[in-house]
Amino acid sequence: MTLDQLNIGDEGIITKIRGRGSFRKRVMEMGFIKGKPVKMIKSAPLRDPIEYQILNYNVSLRLAEAALIEVLPVNQLAPEIKQKRFEDQLQITESIRKIVLEKGREIEVALVGNPNSGKTSIFNIASHSREHVGNYAGVTVDSKKAIFRQHNYKFSLTDLPGTYSLTAFSPEELYVRQYLMKENPDVVLNVVDASNLERNLYLTTQLIDMDMKVVIALNMYDDLSKKGDHFDFEHLGKMLGIPFVPTIGRDGDGIEDLFDTVIAQCEGKEPITRHIHIQYGKEIERSILRLQDRILTTKFSHSLSSRFFAIKLIEKDEDARNYINSFDPKGDILELVDKEIIRIENLLGDNTETLITDARFGFISGALKETYKQVEKPVEETNQTHKIDRILTNKWLGFPIFLFFLWIMFQTTFSLGQYPVALIEAGVSWLAESLNTLIPDGIFQDLLVDGIIGGVGGVIVFMPNILILFLFISFMEDTGYMARVAFIMDKLMHLIGLHGKSFIPMIMGFGCSVPAIMATRTLENRRDRLLTMLIIPLMSCSAKLPVYILIAGAVFPAQAGNVIFGLYMFGILLSVLVALALKNTLFRKQDSPFVMELPPYRVPTGRAVFKHMWFKGQLYLRKMGGIILIASILIWALGYFPRTDGTKSEQLENSFIGIIGQAVEPVIKPLGFDWKMGIALITGTVAKEIVVSTLGVLYQDNEETDVLAEKIQTVTYSDGPRIGQKIYSSPAALAFLLFVLIYIPCVAALAAIKKESGSWKWAIIMGLYTTSLAWIVSFTVFQIGSLFA
Ligand code: GDP
Ligand code: MG
Repeated sequence: MTLDQLNIGDEGIITKIRGRGSFRKRVMEMGFIKGKPVKMIKSAPLRDPIEYQILNYNVSLRLAEAALIEVLPVNQLAPEIKQKRFEDQLQITESIRKIVLEKGREIEVALVGNPNSGKTSIFNIASHSREHVGNYAGVTVDSKKAIFRQHNYKFSLTDLPGTYSLTAFSPEELYVRQYLMKENPDVVLNVVDASNLERNLYLTTQLIDMDMKVVIALNMYDDLSKKGDHFDFEHLGKMLGIPFVPTIGRDGDGIEDLFDTVIAQCEGKEPITRHIHIQYGKEIERSILRLQDRILTTKFSHSLSSRFFAIKLIEKDEDARNYINSFDPKGDILELVDKEIIRIENLLGDNTETLITDARFGFISGALKETYKQVEKPVEETNQTHKIDRILTNKWLGFPIFLFFLWIMFQTTFSLGQYPVALIEAGVSWLAESLNTLIPDGIFQDLLVDGIIGGVGGVIVFMPNILILFLFISFMEDTGYMARVAFIMDKLMHLIGLHGKSFIPMIMGFGCSVPAIMATRTLENRRDRLLTMLIIPLMSCSAKLPVYILIAGAVFPAQAGNVIFGLYMFGILLSVLVALALKNTLFRKQDSPFVMELPPYRVPTGRAVFKHMWFKGQLYLRKMGGIILIASILIWALGYFPRTDGTKSEQLENSFIGIIGQAVEPVIKPLGFDWKMGIALITGTVAKEIVVSTLGVLYQDNEETDVLAEKIQTVTYSDGPRIGQKIYSSPAALAFLLFVLIYIPCVAALAAIKKESGSWKWAIIMGLYTTSLAWIVSFTVFQIGSLFA
């Protein structure tokens, strides 16, 4: 009997909770635990939801959810219990305990697997001492059921038709899927042919999506052993969160172990069991979330996985559409589905069925690459992706190729970017000069030319560089190369207590820390997410690039590309050291292994690349027109007031900003920075580009040239012991670049860390550790560098 069948006032003892993992966890947290008494209080007018009393408080459940909780009605139990009041039944008598225990020892198991994987063989061997065998006819397909015992447990085992997938294409597939959703077996026994893992695990990925409680029978284990291939199925089990048991269905080897594992799984005693998500790529994941949000606002039963349905809908699955239609007759959800499908297909240039299938095979391919070692050399690779992977993920070649790619990326960013930069620079100069002549001298001219053009113009010239950088990153993401990079980095990442998957947000950090910090959501556990978040800002984001290009280009013109590449590398090196330090202090716990998807390579569509670039370029422009514009005006005003008569330099030194600058000077003097650089660093916490725009505004008193880079080259100390010397000496410039690389992330990144970590604590830790580290590194570099300069 199930909970929904109780009438008002009826009491029962919970004997079993069915349904997928997350649902089970949720209702158990509400207090629905095996052996606990529960009483039906009342139901809503349409019998949905129903209110129950459990553990002395009331909770309401939906009808469909209550139907998944099995109870033993109290009036069927020992008579002495019947007379007692509900409260007293908390102390369950020995007789009830026995009955409940007995009930709890009935396990329903469904055999699911590809045709010829050995399901029926296992079924026959397991149910050898069968008490009952029956044939049940499905729509067009059959399933067979048997009951048998092992130890103290009573199994009811169902042999389902063989399927390769759970799409609703064939009647078998539909039958199996509906069986799993309607019957809710306690454990799904996924029989996998060990000699054909790639194809067999495809079905497994869908069981994972459905959030089923699965045990895998690694059948045909004899074939695997004969081949001599090495398969670390235990590790794979840990990655998937599913226990694997090797079996030989033909002779019965391992079958007893198999059902022992089923028992452990059913009792929640399998340590490695956990629910993972297969990642379907950024765009599809975005659609999945949107659909899930919508589905969950309807009467959709929480006992089913909304994620599974969202995926199936995106896959254009007819059965899923019909199901959704049954409680969303207006078709709002399906309309959204169609919109999302069109969005994805336009963007990625392929149909969603293929994209999702590819992602599943990418998941399997990544999982096997890490755990499966073939003895024999595979005969002539035919698969294009595998061919490319033989080189790009090669033990020896993979890493140098990646480094070379990075080097090309930064060289191109700098050198190819130079040409349009020069053009925009000329345009900005021209604009400044024309405004100088067009507008009469005075505060308005100063505001426009020195404040706005000096500030915003200084940054906007780097737009081409940033677009080129984003182009490379988008290319890496869209072709699937990023996933390979994560893969080859995995071993190294483990050394610093992280997983290869953390490397993707790190690379994205080259673009912007904010989306990179958000991308840590793809990591499974909090420890990994936090640790990754804390080192992402050491990746030089694109906002730091204008600073690099400006200073490196001005001070090290011949070596600018290499200096910039060196800064990026140094950031990575520091992130490694920081991660190591954190791993050995704040984050001692071990990480749990997970699969890195290796999706097939694809040539990105022009549309996708363009959209990517445009999207990011737009954000950049918006930043120019917003925060950078405001900051520039503010800095200009702080430098413009109070007014003093005198040269431009004197004016600046006696202005508000000059006063602030001189206050911070003692702190940064040992690093070789003048007070203007100090101000730039302070304002740069709003957004790193503002370092450049601030310098642009503050060096307006250097009137030799309109080009900021040339101003940087020529500014000298006007007083003090270094009078007459260039401010941007090589050691000072290098120290400044390093400081910009390392110190406190911009406010947007800090806010993202706060949001993703859930507290300001981590954002504060972040700001403190980075700024202290920046000071130490810059101090060391400047002091040592000055000895040689
Ligand atoms: P089903 O289609 O999944 O029900 O698979 P069957 O149980 O009918 O098995 C298909 C074939 O594989 C039969 O010829 C079995 O004898 C054979 N078979 C089953 N298990 C094993 C095994 O572990 N090793 C080997 N070598 N053959 C097996
Ligand atoms: Mg069969």
